[in-house]
Amino acid sequence: MFQLNGKVALVTGGSRGIGRACCEALAEHGATVVVNYVKGEAAAREVADAIVAKGGKAEILGFDVADPKACEAAIEDVVKRHGKLDVLVANAGISIDGLLLRLKDEDLDRLFAVNVKGALACARASTKAMMKAKTGRVIFLSSVVGEMGNVGQTAYAATKAAVIGAAKSIAREFASRNITVNAIAPGFIDTDMTSHMNDAMKEHLVKIVPLGRTGTAREVAAACVYLASDEAAYVTGQVLRVNGGMYV
Ligand code: NAD
Repeated sequence: MFQLNGKVALVTGGSRGIGRACCEALAEHGATVVVNYVKGEAAAREVADAIVAKGGKAEILGFDVADPKACEAAIEDVVKRHGKLDVLVANAGISIDGLLLRLKDEDLDRLFAVNVKGALACARASTKAMMKAKTGRVIFLSSVVGEMGNVGQTAYAATKAAVIGAAKSIAREFASRNITVNAIAPGFIDTDMTSHMNDAMKEHLVKIVPLGRTGTAREVAAACVYLASDEAAYVTGQVLRVNGGMYV
């Protein structure tokens, strides 16, 4: 089960955290992985090298998801070189936290440019190729806060809720083309994104997780492998929560 041999997968923001874990897990299951990065070329190369060292297939591709033209050109390039794109993992994301009353317009714009417009630009370019192939998987990274909200994360949560609405809509648009579109909503996962939290914040968060601990990037990547697989062919328009029971 969950064999991805012969499939080509692009993971945006694949050089660290959840993106890196997705790259590694997809490659372990046989996919050829394109590791996207924006600034971390060395880190992306390290991910690809580690995959190749284990006998997998990977390459790196730099582009900024906040630049829609760059997304389109990069994805066209992947399709030209590999003849197809089977799986898009729209993982690249940023978080800028702050209470609504202190929210800056430029932060709001940046959050939407990367987390929403970036994910949609990649989905638009990818589904063009998937439509022709009459098969494909689009996986968005949302967040538990997109569903339950969180004090101090209004703007970030709004972007993550937007991604869920988009996933459900695109799932309906492309179902007849045999393309499935889903979102993964991780809870509190130990990565660089959450490393800025102080111990008190972390303790508070862990208290509201019924499983009593943070999650790992690898646990999120397992959901990604499942949604990318042939076994998930009848799953579309869904939000797969990987959150230790934090929101049910
Ligand atoms: P991270 O900060 O460790 O990694 C994010 C990656 O996205 C980085 O590699 C970064 O370079 C890349 N990125 C940022 N802007 C980019 C751009 N413009 N173009 C291309 N790449 C860009 O974060 P993470 O914790 O691994 O999060 C991955 C995804 O999962 C994000 O979408 C995040 O919102 C979501 N998520 C994370 C958590 C968590 O607890 N860590 C929880 C819920 C959802």
